[in-house]
Amino acid sequence: MSNCLFCNIIAGDIPASKVYEDDKILAFRDINPKAEVHILVIPKKHIISLADLDEQDDAISAYLLGKLADIAREQGLQGFRTIFNTGKEGGQEVFHLHAHILGGASLAGIGF
Ligand code: 5GP
Ligand code: ZN
Repeated sequence: MSNCLFCNIIAGDIPASKVYEDDKILAFRDINPKAEVHILVIPKKHIISLADLDEQDDAISAYLLGKLADIAREQGLQGFRTIFNTGKEGGQEVFHLHAHILGGASLAGIGF
């Protein structure tokens, strides 16, 4: 979608600090990190949010979830926190599905 920020990052029209990419997903550094390591992982397919997944997205959802720990490990994280903000009331600001991977020393001892 041309008016979607993350689709524009996928297309290369907006620069991003990419840390992993394949034919299905892209991972890049959050521009405003909330932890020592803060990565966003997105499907290349434009899906608005977790609330907008349908059955035909089962494979890409499972694939993205399965890659999170690999991407975190590549950033040197043994443990990490994953957040999916869903909908305006859930704090979602960019309406292209994304997992936040947060980790690093600044997370130690900070729980919900
Ligand atoms: P949300 O609140 O939708 O879950 O998270 C959106 C995230 O995207 C925020 O953490 C924000 O810092 C990040 N973000 C917004 N615009 C850009 C951008 O242009 N580039 C990158 N790398 N991250 C962005
Ligand atoms: Zn999009």
